Amino acid sequence: MDAASRRDMPLLEVEELSTWFRTRSGDAHAVDGVSFQLRAGETLGLVGESGSGKSVTALSLLGLVPRPAGRIVTGSSVRLRGEELVGADERRLRAVRGGEIAMVFQEPMTSLNPVLTIGRQVEEGIRIHRRLPANEARSEAVRMLERVGIPEPADRIRAYPHQLSGGMRQRVMIAMALACRPSILVADEPTTALDVTVQAQILELLLDLQRELGMAILLITHDLGVVAEVADRVAVMYAGRIVETATVEDLFEAPAHPYTAGLMAAVPDPDRPAQRLTAIPGNVPEPTRWPDGCRFHPRCPHAWERCRGAEPGLLETAAGGRSRCWLIEEPDRRLPTAFSSGTGGEP
Ligand code: SF4
Repeated sequence: MDAASRRDMPLLEVEELSTWFRTRSGDAHAVDGVSFQLRAGETLGLVGESGSGKSVTALSLLGLVPRPAGRIVTGSSVRLRGEELVGADERRLRAVRGGEIAMVFQEPMTSLNPVLTIGRQVEEGIRIHRRLPANEARSEAVRMLERVGIPEPADRIRAYPHQLSGGMRQRVMIAMALACRPSILVADEPTTALDVTVQAQILELLLDLQRELGMAILLITHDLGVVAEVADRVAVMYAGRIVETATVEDLFEAPAHPYTAGLMAAVPDPDRPAQRLTAIPGNVPEPTRWPDGCRFHPRCPHAWERCRGAEPGLLETAAGGRSRCWLIEEPDRRLPTAFSSGTGGEP
């Protein structure tokens, strides 16, 4: 492959990824045939309710699916710069994790070691992945802590995680993740546990670091407001499948899939304080028993016979995105008022 083709190649290509778990009630198809690509410098938002399969997708990319209950099913493919990671040996996956793909989780206390200072934890990754001697690793750790906005980092490296606020711990996690200059950052609900002001600061920090390091971000969240602020493209997941993909502008302009429309109707609009929010009725079904036909049909206000009988593929939308919905072929069936958020305060 020549240099130009290598440059145009997506950093990450996920094809037909399926991750199943053995349970007493049978196999749970948590992720079921998911495909997407990620290019250098872009941010892809992976959105859905809890139970839609987005976090299991992230764990699958990193070879972190809990065994023996979980397994990546034959036929799945995760390629990093063309290199297949599904089935790679543990040594290679360890080198990829932290070195080329780093991860930030929602709750830093579950990822930080409570008995080690934050300096030691940031340094450890730098020493392992960048092979720097101890004194250089320490200077780099201080530099990274400063970069993520930890005040007086030369002193703070001696602090333990419990001595920091939630926002500061999340900054330490980001410093740990980025200290090895990964090509891809997988951020799983990175701001969910934080208040709105700190959330905005952390998102701004991620975007700054992305511009500086040129990395790609896979941002996993249930929060469409967060996606609107930082993502370039969006993939919406429901019941183990991607049900819609679009640029962030097209998605917010006109969501093609009723599930996306339902998620949007539940997001408060700061410009419309009297707005009435609408929740999607029902819950995500059990992954051992996905419904036949379109998996969203039991909750969908537009569902008709065809939806119960056969599942649509990802059909191309007028805006150039994709939607797993028969309405793309039969748009006249869309009900105008379903899931739309109205204005409250009226009789
Ligand atoms: Fe709703 Fe039918 Fe579209 Fe499924 S295929 S989302 S049930 S309209």
